[in-house]
Amino acid sequence: MSGHKAKKMFGQNFLVDQNIIADIVACIHPEAADNMVEIGPGLGALTRPLLKRLERLHVVEIDRDIIARLEADYPQANNNVKLMINAGDALEFDFATLPAPLRIVGNLPYNISTPLLFHFASYAKRITDMHFMLQNEVVERMVAEHSTPAYGRLSVMLQYRFAMEKLLDVPPASFRPAPKVDSAIVRMIPLPPEHILVRNEKVYSAVVSTAFGQRRKTLRNTLRSYLDEAAFDELGINPQLRAENLSVADFIRVANYLGDKQS
Ligand code: SAM
Repeated sequence: MSGHKAKKMFGQNFLVDQNIIADIVACIHPEAADNMVEIGPGLGALTRPLLKRLERLHVVEIDRDIIARLEADYPQANNNVKLMINAGDALEFDFATLPAPLRIVGNLPYNISTPLLFHFASYAKRITDMHFMLQNEVVERMVAEHSTPAYGRLSVMLQYRFAMEKLLDVPPASFRPAPKVDSAIVRMIPLPPEHILVRNEKVYSAVVSTAFGQRRKTLRNTLRSYLDEAAFDELGINPQLRAENLSVADFIRVANYLGDKQS
C-alpha cells in the first residue's frame, strides 16, 4: 500500500476497487463549485477523483503520516491550493469554519462512526447533503422502519431530521486491508426546518434514550416516569408496546406532549 502501514486505531481500511470508487463518486455527483469536505482522505482513493471534478476540496485527517503525505502532494503554501488540509480529529472539528452550504463525504472510520454522525448532525442547518461509507449494519439501523429488528435509538435520533437512503453495498474485498464486516454507502439529506417537528430536542433525546434503554420492556415500564395511564390514553399509544413499535412520528408526539406540559 505505497509504503503506508494501515493503522487499526484510526479505522484504516483503504478503498482499492476502482469500479466501486467510480460508483461512489457517481452517487456523490460532485459539481465543480460545491463546497465539499472529505472526512479521512487516507491515501486519496476518493480524494483524487473528487478533485478532478471540484474546484477545491477540504479534507479532515487525523493521522500525521497521512497528513505529511498529503502536504507533500498538495503544498499548502500555494495561494491557489485545490486541496485544503485540516489536520486533526473530525470529532472535534468545527464545521462552521467551512463555507456553507456544505457537502460532507467520507469512507468513515467505523470505530467512531456513531459519534461522528451525531457531530455532523449538529451542523445540519449548514449542510446540503452527506454521503458516507459505513458498516452495512449501521446503515441498516439508520434507515430501519419501526417494528423491524434494526430499528433503534440511531434510527429515531437521525430520521427526525434527515432523509436517508442506502445507495450501494460494498463488499470487504473492495478494501485493503479487508474489513471483517460488509459496508454500504448511505446518503443523508437534512430535512427542511418546516419538516422538523420536534419542538424540544433535549426532551426528545431523553425519551428516546429511556425507551430504548431497556428495549425488551413495555413502554408502561420504561416511560413510567414520563407518562401515566391517562397520558398514554390521551396520546393514543398502547402502553403494552415496546420502544421498537413506536414510529418516529409517535416519539415526536410523546416528546412534544411532555415538552408542552413542562412549559
Ligand atoms: N478515504 C480513504 C479511503 O477510502 O481509502 C480512507 C478511509 S479509512 C476507512 C478512514 C480514514 O479516516 C483514515 O484515513 C483515517 O486515518 C481517518 N481517520 C480516522 N479517525 C479520524 C478522526 N477522528 N478524524 C479524522 N480522520 C480520521
